[in-house]
Formats: sequence, C-alpha cells, structure tokens
Amino acid sequence: MRIMVQKFGGSSVATKERMLLVLEKVRTGLAADCKVLAVLSARTGETNNLLALASEWSDTPDPAECDVLVSTGEQVAVALFAMLLKDAGIKARSCTGGQVGIVCNDVFGKARVKQVDTQTIEALFHDHDVLVITGFQGVTKDGRITTLGRGGSDTSAVALAAAVKADICEIYTDVEGVFTTDPNVCHKARKLNRLTYNEMLEMASMGAKVLEIRSVEFAKKFNVPLVVRSTFSDAPGTLITQEDQIMEEIVVSSIAYDKDQARITLRSVRDTPGIAASIFIPLAEANIPVDMIVQNPSRDGVTDMNFTVTHKDLKRALAIMDEVCKKVGGIEMSSDADVAKITAIGVGMRNHSGVAAKLFAAFQKENINIIMISTSEIKISCIIPEKYTELAVRILHDAFGLDKGSYLEG
Ligand code: ADP
Ligand code: ASP
Ligand code: MG
Repeated sequence: MRIMVQKFGGSSVATKERMLLVLEKVRTGLAADCKVLAVLSARTGETNNLLALASEWSDTPDPAECDVLVSTGEQVAVALFAMLLKDAGIKARSCTGGQVGIVCNDVFGKARVKQVDTQTIEALFHDHDVLVITGFQGVTKDGRITTLGRGGSDTSAVALAAAVKADICEIYTDVEGVFTTDPNVCHKARKLNRLTYNEMLEMASMGAKVLEIRSVEFAKKFNVPLVVRSTFSDAPGTLITQEDQIMEEIVVSSIAYDKDQARITLRSVRDTPGIAASIFIPLAEANIPVDMIVQNPSRDGVTDMNFTVTHKDLKRALAIMDEVCKKVGGIEMSSDADVAKITAIGVGMRNHSGVAAKLFAAFQKENINIIMISTSEIKISCIIPEKYTELAVRILHDAFGLDKGSYLEG
C-alpha cells in the first residue's frame, strides 16, 4: 500500500472554497494510486482566537486546559473537510492525532512526539482511502490532549510520514515553496528548487516559519522526502533533501528573521564558575528554551550576560531571573521585547571567509545597530531593533545577491 501525506496549513483550509481546492490536491494523491493522510491545521486565525480566549479567562491559563481548548481549532477543520470529501463520494473520515496513535510527552503547549502507533491507521485504511487528521496535537500516554507548539501541524505530518513510511510528505501552504527569504517581506525573494535538511533546519530555527523546526528534524532523522508547495497553484515546489556537492558550493542561500525574540540582560554578574549554570538551569527546569546567549569577557571580576527567549516565555523568565538575582545579589537586570533576529544561512559558509564582514558592512550602511551576534558553521545571526527587521532582510538579500542566484564568492 502506497501512502502519501499531505499537510494543509491554516490559510489553505480557511474557507469552504479553499477546502475545495484542497480536495483537488487530495484527488491527485488518490489518482497516483496512494492512500492519503491529509493533516490539517486550524483555519487561519483560529488558534490565535482560542489562545486569546484563554487569556481572557485567566492571567495564567493552565497549560493542560489550554491544550484542550486550542486543539479544538484543528478538530473543526478536519470535521468540515471530511464532510466535503464524503459529499464528493470519497471514502474518508476524520481522526484526532490521539485516535491515530500520536503519543507525546506531557509538556503541555510544546509537547514532543514520542511514538506513533500505526496499527489504527493501517486498520482504517481497509475501509477508507483518505484519513483527515488533526495536526498540532497528540495525547500523553495517559490519554490527555496535548499540543506541539505553534506551527506544530508540520511536525504531525512529518511524524506520521516517518511512521507509515510514506512515499512523500507534501506540505501545502500559501507560498510556492521555500524562498531565499520570506517572499511576503522581500519581493525579490527567489524560490529554491532544492535545499538540504541542514539548511532548512537553520532557516526554521532562525524563524522562517514556512516549516516548523521539529518537522525538519524528523524529516532529516528518518529521511522523509519533503516537498513544500502551494495549495493555490500547480507549481512543483521545493524539495528538501540530503546534501550534495553542488549545494556545498553555495555560500549564502537564504536570509531568515524572527520577531519572536526578547532580550534579557544581567549586568554586574559575579564571574565565578557555576554562575552560568545558576542562571540557565532554573530556566531549563521551567521548560523555557533560551536562544542566543552572549557573555562578555569579565572586567574586575564581573561580567554581563545577555540571552533571548520568546515573547510568550518572557514574563516567566523574568520572574525566574528575579529569584536568581535575589540569591546571587548585585545583579542589575533589564529586558527588551522589541528586538528581532536576522540570520544569513548557507552550508558553504564553512569554507569561506568574509561573510560576516559583508553582513556587518550592509548593516553599517543603513545605520542599523547590532545588539548581539552569534555564529555557527553555517549561519550568522544578529539581534537588532525590531523596527529594522524588514529593512535588514531586504538589504542582506541584496548584499548577498540572492535575487540573482546564490552568493558564491566573498
Ligand atoms: P501555514 O499556515 O500553511 O502553515 P505559515 O504561515 O506557517 O503557513 O508559513 C508560510 C509563510 O511562511 C509564508 O506565507 C511566508 O510569509 C513565511 N515565510 C518565512 N520565510 C519564508 C521563506 N524563506 N520561504 C517561504 N516562506 C517563508
Ligand atoms: N494551528 C496551529 C498554529 O496556528 C498549528 C499549525 O497551524 O501548524 O500554530
Ligand atoms: Mg505553518
């Protein structure tokens, strides 16, 4: 039995008219002699509405109850879509993530998929050609509903594709593939025909929300062939795959941005062994992911520590840091939620110099102040004031010639 996974994002299922376009994509899967797992997101805006509702009810909504609430967005979408399929004479039914065996840990709000039990899917495929599955959610081993974090339907789709050994996992969205940067911010952005898992991992982790990061981790780990394409056209999309020689030679292949960043600075931190642990262990214990960390060299036995968290976690992180400051003493704390991270990515960066210099020069020309910098083998990231985000994306896209073809030489 050949199985195709097709995931449809919120804008693809926003209205009945759009769902009818989705139905045609499902038909192409069936015409290719495949059974189809159609994984759906909540309709556009629905998850935000449900989260806002939770905040109206409580200042600190219980994470487990919040998951019960927000997971309903996907349930509405799958029920409506299954009705359309049945009306079209297609043997289909809707299922929740839990019903098809997606088991997660109990970190409510950002749970990880631990296991996918495929027996139910196999059994259901005896009598059905299409299973319409809620993205974004699974259940704990005790059966409680849990969600996977924003954009998590991508992860549901890839996890299912890995588990059932699908022929392909297609991610349908509102753009024609993965571009050199967000096409909604930079009109010169170019669609990439192919991209490596590693580059896509960096792009996703640096904020290119076209794919959620864990979905790319899964795809890489289980070698799931992944295609990003549009619900609204027949364009072939972007294939995400393993690295090959040609890709290695490209220095900068994309620019990503992430506005969901907040900086916390601790000044005058006593520079003794264990101090970083006393700051970051409590954050880890509270399941608060810390993104960029920069520690200044110490002067007179004290140092400054800067790091970033997401907006959602800022309030909790500040409360935890308050406790740390009380314990350690002498620390001055400040924070800024109006920052963004801009990143240049490319696998070829490991063998080329001058990429950082070119990036800094581009920012200097526009008078954009860099607040923090971090680099890895295949990326350079800068934290800058949020108001410059779009400008920064466009000038780097130009500086690295991404509209003309990827940047090859220093
Ligand atoms: P969906 O609801 O289908 O999951 P998302 O809104 O999560 O869609 O992701 C698609 C959006 O990702 C696009 O509309 C685009 O604005 C944004 N995006 C950011 N970076 C990129 C990129 N490099 N290539 C394509 N799209 C990108
Ligand atoms: N509905 C969820 C969200 O808006 C999951 C998703 O769309 O992937 O984040
Ligand atoms: Mg998405």
